[in-house]
Amino acid sequence: MITLKKILVPTDFSETAKVALTYARALASTYHGSVHVLHVLPDASVQPWAFGVETETMGLSTSERLKRWEQKANEQMKNLLSETERKQLDVRFVTQVGHPVQQILQYAKDQAVDLIVMGTHGRGTPAPTSGGAFPWNVPMGSVAERVVRQAPCPVLTVRHPEHEFVTP
Ligand code: ATP
Ligand code: MN
Repeated sequence: MITLKKILVPTDFSETAKVALTYARALASTYHGSVHVLHVLPDASVQPWAFGVETETMGLSTSERLKRWEQKANEQMKNLLSETERKQLDVRFVTQVGHPVQQILQYAKDQAVDLIVMGTHGRGTPAPTSGGAFPWNVPMGSVAERVVRQAPCPVLTVRHPEHEFVTP
């Protein structure tokens, strides 16, 4: 029998990833499983441009900045669920540093995850303009596509309902 005990939801805090989390919650409660919410931060020592222009963390060392980002990401992840939802659900929040694809795949392997639930798109694609075919005519973002191809477990990809992919 197939049971989905450990469900991984990688999030970049996009609306689409939020939709993925609602699916993961439903599955976790059905299977009495746990949800691991994972956010991957860029490695700023390798990609200095990842710092961007942030007045808040200006003047901080690389490791101090990373610590701030991790704190922020953890807060943001917690805020994806209400207090009641957090209590009802067996949920953990994890941050990793590196490339999203590599870290998601590594986490899935290390933790022997049963299912990955993620968005088809993320924050890399700007909000669609009215009637805009692009970028929602791209069936999947690069992270989603590579995780689907290489994951050691099944992957459920979830589309944002307002941004349905329509074949021309
Ligand atoms: P691209 O990044 O190729 O420009 P995109 O941002 O629209 O396109 P993806 O990055 O593939 O699309 O996002 C798809 C899903 O991958 C997201 O909904 C989220 O579930 C996951 N994801 C993307 N980036 C991260 C990240 N940094 N940490 C965790 N999960 C991520
Ligand atoms: Mn992206």
